[in-house]
Amino acid sequence: MNKINFSNYMLSDVILKAISDLGYEMPTPVQREVIPAVLNGKDVLVQSQTGSGKTASFGIPLCEKVDWVENKPQVLVLEPTRELAQQVQEDLINIGRYKRIKATAVYGKASYVKQKSELKQKSHIVVGTPGRVLDHIIKGSLPLDKINCLVIDEADEMLNMGFIDQVKEIIAALPKMKNTLLFSATMPQTIERMSNAYLHDPIVVKIEATEKTTPKIQHAFLNVTDENKLTALEAVTIVENPDTCIIFANTQEKVNDTYDFLVKAGYPVGKLHGGMMQEDRFDVMDAFRKAKFRYLVATDVAARGIDIENITHVVNLDIPHEKESYIHRVGRTGRAGKEGFALTFVTPKEVTQKREIEAFGELTMTAINLPNAKLIARSKSAFETKITTKQKIKQPKAKRVNEEITKVYFNGGKKKKLRALDFVGTISKIEGITAEDIGIITIQENVTYIDILNGKGQLVIQAMKERTIKGKLLKVHVARKK
Ligand code: AMP
Repeated sequence: MNKINFSNYMLSDVILKAISDLGYEMPTPVQREVIPAVLNGKDVLVQSQTGSGKTASFGIPLCEKVDWVENKPQVLVLEPTRELAQQVQEDLINIGRYKRIKATAVYGKASYVKQKSELKQKSHIVVGTPGRVLDHIIKGSLPLDKINCLVIDEADEMLNMGFIDQVKEIIAALPKMKNTLLFSATMPQTIERMSNAYLHDPIVVKIEATEKTTPKIQHAFLNVTDENKLTALEAVTIVENPDTCIIFANTQEKVNDTYDFLVKAGYPVGKLHGGMMQEDRFDVMDAFRKAKFRYLVATDVAARGIDIENITHVVNLDIPHEKESYIHRVGRTGRAGKEGFALTFVTPKEVTQKREIEAFGELTMTAINLPNAKLIARSKSAFETKITTKQKIKQPKAKRVNEEITKVYFNGGKKKKLRALDFVGTISKIEGITAEDIGIITIQENVTYIDILNGKGQLVIQAMKERTIKGKLLKVHVARKK
């Protein structure tokens, strides 16, 4: 019946190629609704969970619509956390790869000056957290006059984290003529009011939980006391022997303690919370995504919305304070139709909280017993084998898009009055290279980075060792970073 595929949307070849490289064959339900609406310039109000493909639902039409020639940002995407800002930036870069779309991420606890210099260069799309976005607006480093679309992602989470006033301030600073796309997993009244105030005649999309969007999750609980939580965690993990497991705790201190406990016990484990340095947080996420360790201990904020495939187990070492966050936490498992197991530790004081979560989520948690010594002993050898065996390193999903791309460094930039056109002109004259093989170009004061696509990086590097750009012979090699 549903024969719709991406070619129905009249997208340009460069976008279709990226979609196909990412392995997306059919649009997901949210994409079927949102892509045509955004292409037609409508505002949209979308109630949908992460995992439903919502990033691409706005990423695809917005990358399609961006005017490449314009240097100032045209799209502003607001995200509640730095990790999400970075993840969405990556998704947009992947979708816009062959159109050479520049997506810049701005978030707190990272160098303001570096972001400012990135914003000075061509940036088609800016993805950021509200506080830092507002900072850039106030200090004049984020020009807004060409913004024609605002995406407010995870609006309910923005609300929970107290960002709504900043979001409103940002909206007030933006041009009036623009599209607004609002995404939220739940629709509390404040979000509905925001939608009434800021969206014009929106297309309302509500993706009901279906087989595909709702993961198959077994919910269970274990009665514990505050004192025996860590031993209970050890017992349960030995018996369950998860392939991959996220353990949620309510405070940074608890995350640190649990992490230390598991390290001592020999678990391959990482930790993530808002008190850590930004770079460390990214490194941990990256390593966990690549399956470099099986266990991650995290707080809510750090793990919300993060798209990691194949988490088999979620353990709530602490029952979450907010009912909603239970749904988000357990949503880390059972993704893409796979079965997941969500276990919540409940102390005698928390029985009511557990009931409230069950009512809110329309789910029932099955009681499990603390494994006895015999069972633990029997399970131990399989468990030890698993925790001491290295997992096969997972390639990130964008690998195919990236593997054909070489980032090439040139030791000349704006100071030498070099422009993108000069590079494209010279490089596309190399035999075997066309303008299609040239990806994102980043020109800085003294250096330029150019993505060369389709596996032709070395061809360009060799040829450019002997050719001049605007009469200048530049040093050229594979970029070390960026
Ligand atoms: P999101 O809801 O944006 O967090 O996306 C969830 C996951 O679905 C991400 O890993 C996407 O790469 C993936 N995805 C998005 N759209 C599609 C599609 N049409 N087909 C297959 N996977 C998709």
